[in-house]
Amino acid sequence: MARRGLRERLLYFALVPAIVVAVLVLGGFALRTTLRIEKRRQETVIAATISLADERVDRLDKFLVAEDNVVLAHVELDKLLSLRSRWLQTAARETPTVRAILVLDADHADHDVLAFASRREDAREDDTFRRLLVQKLIRQMNFDGNVEELRHLHATIEGQSLLVSYWQRTYAGRRYLVVAWHDVPRIVHDLMRRLYDDLGGNSHMNVVDGEGKLVYGPPIKEGGFTVGKKFPTTLYLWSVQVALATADALGEEVERQRLIELGLIASSGAVAIAGIVIVVVASVRERRLAALRSDFVANVSHELKTPLALVRMFGELLLGERVQTPEKKRQYLEIIVSESERLTALIDNVLDFAKVERGKAGYEFEQGSLGEVVPRAVDVYRYRAEREGVAVNVDVQSGLPDAMIDPRAIELAVINLLDNALKYAKEGGRVDLRVERRGKFIAIQVTDHGPGISVEEQARIFERFVRGKNAGAKQVRGSGIGLALVQHIAESHGGDVTVRSPVTPDGKGSAFTLTIPAGLAAARPAQEAEAPSAIDRHPRESE
Ligand code: ADP
Repeated sequence: MARRGLRERLLYFALVPAIVVAVLVLGGFALRTTLRIEKRRQETVIAATISLADERVDRLDKFLVAEDNVVLAHVELDKLLSLRSRWLQTAARETPTVRAILVLDADHADHDVLAFASRREDAREDDTFRRLLVQKLIRQMNFDGNVEELRHLHATIEGQSLLVSYWQRTYAGRRYLVVAWHDVPRIVHDLMRRLYDDLGGNSHMNVVDGEGKLVYGPPIKEGGFTVGKKFPTTLYLWSVQVALATADALGEEVERQRLIELGLIASSGAVAIAGIVIVVVASVRERRLAALRSDFVANVSHELKTPLALVRMFGELLLGERVQTPEKKRQYLEIIVSESERLTALIDNVLDFAKVERGKAGYEFEQGSLGEVVPRAVDVYRYRAEREGVAVNVDVQSGLPDAMIDPRAIELAVINLLDNALKYAKEGGRVDLRVERRGKFIAIQVTDHGPGISVEEQARIFERFVRGKNAGAKQVRGSGIGLALVQHIAESHGGDVTVRSPVTPDGKGSAFTLTIPAGLAAARPAQEAEAPSAIDRHPRESE
């Protein structure tokens, strides 16, 4: 016993928590691994997007720089007069985005324009640009360091984006400033389209200005997988944004995966906890039932022993012919008869209960009258009741319909209710039995005037092996199966049993009501009625 207890305790307090911890640890590991793999995948996607963005900005930059180099090749400082005619021959092909080339005097502060070659015949625009260049743009140019180097100025003036490429040149002791004026709208509409329209469906890209306003391409949803890259040399106020089309799907996949993982962990945790709860509850129930069972065995043995001892004692007295008067003899014989009746009832109870426990309680239903069966059961007890000074009043309503009943089972139920009334409510001095019709049912009501039953006990006394406080206090013999059996009998007949207490205004008495369906169709086959269970049953409502 002790070893088994130890084993059980080991199971509940060590093994079960260990299983829970193991489930949670495994779940945590699984989650961590998946998240790591997902992170790697994300990093790969981001790296791929970055290299695509690099390639995009480089492509445009290189194209513009290549044009600038062509421009520079055309600018021969000793032949400035023929610059326009030389350049225009190939301008459309070799420098499609260059709107005009200017050569300025870099030695003097007012920067005279020494040569001006424009591709368009719009003198006003040219003049405006020239003024702008001399008055504003030159001041923003960077002349530090290597003066011969190609440099770019990207500026926004009155909402217009301007791009100029510039170099300083020295020739014959004079310094010149060569400027290529790029046509920005043309870069956007022609060049970007030409360079960027080959992306296919795998990625989205656009170009935005410094404030994030769209310059070229469709809008892109901002998110973790969109990469922005500034043009390094030419249009450096703008940047290219790239997002792989697979990134959206990846984002969703990551989210879904995370939810699945979390769901799995949560459900495995819940399963583990539910498992523990079930194990603990089952063990508590099992212990309670085991305790009740051992009480039951002790009670039944005790109940059997006492009447047997009495029967034997008075039998021996009679046999020894030491009893003088015929009255005494008769009294002893009556005791023997009543004690053997009690024994029979007890054994009937135990046997029937055992059948119920094994799920084999078979009832034999037949057409019968409760008006006849109930008084018969009372007759068995009348003698004992009178001896104990309790009056039993039976009141059967006339004209009751027949019902489908197992008469022996009904008798046993009534005997149990009567026996309880005599055991626990003797002081009431009276037990009233009434059999009457109530709607579709016939009700057998057994009312005593004893101490009554508290509401808490009313909820439990129909459970098997459960005995009330008064049973212990008064040392009343019993085994706690009587009412469980009554209930099983009632339910097998398609009826019910309820208790109401107290019944009188001064808080005394209890009334048990057994209802059986009237008529010949209502009885349930016995095997359908389940065995009463001490632990499954909900508390009963009082009548
Ligand atoms: P037992 O009588 O063997 O204890 P029962 O199942 O017949 O088992 O009854 C369960 C408990 O219900 C009893 O122990 C008793 O406390 C309480 N009880 C039953 N009938 C009465 C009654 N008429 N008056 C007071 N208490 C009762």
